[in-house]
Amino acid sequence: MTVIDTDRIRGCLLSGAAGDALGAPVEFDAWPTIERTFGPRGITDYTDRGGFGLGAITDDTQMTLFTLEGLLRARDRGTDPVAEVRAAYLDWFATQGGAVPHRTGDLVTDERLHARRAPGLTCLSALEAIAAGKTAANDSKGCGGVMRVAPVALTAAPEESDRAVFTLAGELARLTHCHPSGWLSAGVFAVMVRCLLTTASVESAVDVGLTVLRESADEHDRVETEQALRAAVALARHGIPHPDDVERNLGGGWTGESALAIAVCAALCAPDLREGVRIAVNHSGDSDSTGSLAGNLLGARDGVAAVPTEWLDSLECRDLIEGLAKRIGG
Ligand SMILES: [Mg+2]
Repeated sequence: MTVIDTDRIRGCLLSGAAGDALGAPVEFDAWPTIERTFGPRGITDYTDRGGFGLGAITDDTQMTLFTLEGLLRARDRGTDPVAEVRAAYLDWFATQGGAVPHRTGDLVTDERLHARRAPGLTCLSALEAIAAGKTAANDSKGCGGVMRVAPVALTAAPEESDRAVFTLAGELARLTHCHPSGWLSAGVFAVMVRCLLTTASVESAVDVGLTVLRESADEHDRVETEQALRAAVALARHGIPHPDDVERNLGGGWTGESALAIAVCAALCAPDLREGVRIAVNHSGDSDSTGSLAGNLLGARDGVAAVPTEWLDSLECRDLIEGLAKRIGG
């Protein structure tokens, strides 16, 4: 990639946020409840059921934006990206009411990001430890690591290897999630987003992600992530899955590898972005995170024009997202 494709970068971020906003009202609902409320296709448009407001983003998008702010700061200053993103996550922790030694960036001053939208408890407790000068010590493989690392792909320099993207995304996830499935899933996801910025094939993005995973992690560590991806590919071969089959085959998306698998399956089997994001949010599991991941993948592939206008029009913090996306181009 020699030219930065700003349309696909914007598409990735905006579509991820839209998937988050679409799924948020049903994050804690089982499929029968979603079906009863919204009909056989489930939720297909924003609703303020759940009380966050129409088009409201959640912690998934908030943390994605803080990841991006940290990475841009590292790039602009030539400083360590992990240290800068750690500082950015402490800023996010401050927005959620956490006590931090100091604030670093600009995003933390935006009051809209101080909304508490069911933030992941693992992220909160890990950041509490980091704020106290310790490191996170947990065995969590929650999806709070993978759901925030798309910006690693978006800010990667053309000469950077996929393996470097994998490693950095994994390190950022590992700041808060110490189980291998919590951070290896993040590495694979970032590599896939990067592939989709330049190719149109989700299949080949899965192949590249699996290859880098095998090259970078030992078998014991990678087994769950690898199996989850294979299950996603297998399920997608049968066409659009019923929500019950999503859960039965891929889990509820609460863990990193399961959320990745649901997003990958949805991206593989859907005819377009809107349908892919719809499939990704309609199941009994962690709908906003899986919607956000599928949105990132398909937005990177298809660009902004593929994101439904009505999703963009009422998307919370759209201006903030657009502003950060613009900075990626320099
Ligand atoms: Mg969320």
